[in-house]
Amino acid sequence: MAFNQIQFQHGMSIPEFLQSFGAEAVKQSRWPDGFRCPRCDSANHCVLGEDARRLFQCYGCRHQTSLIAGSLMEHTKLPLTTWFLAVYLISQAKTGLSALALKRHLGVS
Ligand SMILES: [Zn+2]
Repeated sequence: MAFNQIQFQHGMSIPEFLQSFGAEAVKQSRWPDGFRCPRCDSANHCVLGEDARRLFQCYGCRHQTSLIAGSLMEHTKLPLTTWFLAVYLISQAKTGLSALALKRHLGVS
């Protein structure tokens, strides 16, 4: 039987995954060269709040934006880490994952 390289590729542990896909990873992905105001393109800003819910306020035009503004996750009430963990669990389950099992794993309904 031929050696299946895909089957034996190095996977990602849950701690590695959560470290790679946290709020800082989203910030790095959205603004790779640092914050840029979507309205006036200024880099001068202050940060209000914490984690994924934090707001970035531009010093130039006072526009406020967040890490998830304008994205698919804009109106979610769940933390981004919960969504990322759901994606991880769904993608790692070889035989699929039921909605009830996902609910139990994440503690959400
Ligand atoms: Zn601005």
